[in-house]
Amino acid sequence: MAYKIMLDAGHGGSDPGAVYQGRQEKDDTLRLTLAVGRILEDNGIDVVYTRTTDIYQTPFEKAKIANESGADFFISFHRNSSPQANQYNGVEVLLYDKSGIKLEMAENILGAMGELGFREIGVKERPGLVVLRRTRMPALLVEAGFINSDVDNQLFDEKFDEMATGIAEAILGTLNLDTVEGPVYYRVQTGAFRNREYADRMLYELLDKGYPAFILQENDLYKVQVGAFLQIGNAINMEQRLRDDGYTTLIVTK
Ligand SMILES: [Zn+2]
Repeated sequence: MAYKIMLDAGHGGSDPGAVYQGRQEKDDTLRLTLAVGRILEDNGIDVVYTRTTDIYQTPFEKAKIANESGADFFISFHRNSSPQANQYNGVEVLLYDKSGIKLEMAENILGAMGELGFREIGVKERPGLVVLRRTRMPALLVEAGFINSDVDNQLFDEKFDEMATGIAEAILGTLNLDTVEGPVYYRVQTGAFRNREYADRMLYELLDKGYPAFILQENDLYKVQVGAFLQIGNAINMEQRLRDDGYTTLIVTK
């Protein structure tokens, strides 16, 4: 039977979470949650979400949604914040207590983030957090870098796709589900530019429209791509959506 995993994009709606130079935690967490969820779905996980849009929920509501879903795991995504900008950086994973499979999963996620260049702060016990205390299944809260750290934001943005893939693979690996070394991901490319600004412009336009877009830098080119699908059918569906939206597309595997 497939595992059911509840992903929680921290904060939302009238609660932006931490804010830094106009950047809001609730947006970063939603983007990351949807990206990780998509990869898990493509690997056969039954993924459920506390929210997929910008709505407000109390932590109690988030825990209740998780409990009522019957999910096997609850994973909440957040960005950390320090009193002063650029005071701290790095990733930590918070647990109710350091035991069981959730500890193994937390360490795997932390390691995956570390491989991308994030400082590994560690796995910490935070039994007071509502979403960890009130959820009945193994629950993790990932602080995906500090939102008021320029170093972390750069990693978050530039390695976004690798980060989502790394987290998803850490989750799947903990559950002993084979992700296959170097699986083939089908991506939909909407443009390739020598000029980073042009690529950024297309990227932000796509993100604004809700597409899981990212930039892949290869040789001298900044390639704007959307999604990372294990099944070609899903890539074709995305391609159709993009074409209907006026983009010229190409399905690539690199
Ligand atoms: Zn938060």
